[in-house]
Amino acid sequence: MPEHPDQRFALPAEGQRLRCAACGNLTRFDVVSSRRTAAFWHYTVAGELTVEDERDLSAVAETVRCRWCGSATQVEVVPAFGRNGPEPAGP
Ligand SMILES: [Zn+2]
Repeated sequence: MPEHPDQRFALPAEGQRLRCAACGNLTRFDVVSSRRTAAFWHYTVAGELTVEDERDLSAVAETVRCRWCGSATQVEVVPAFGRNGPEPAGP
């Protein structure tokens, strides 16, 4: 079964999320991705490294598979609901 043939799959940006068109799953996915990141590498004098402030410059999914039905071809990026709607009333 081809997995997004010839086309790399853009990961959801802010305000977007994944959805499986095959079964409707919105919450659980196995994602294999390539990331390009920038970070601040902080060595101690003794040579121990701490990576800080790591952030994605770009991220591309290679495979996105639905955890519910196993489909790797029908997962799509959709708008995340509720971000622009009224805030839910707090307690
Ligand atoms: Zn599914």
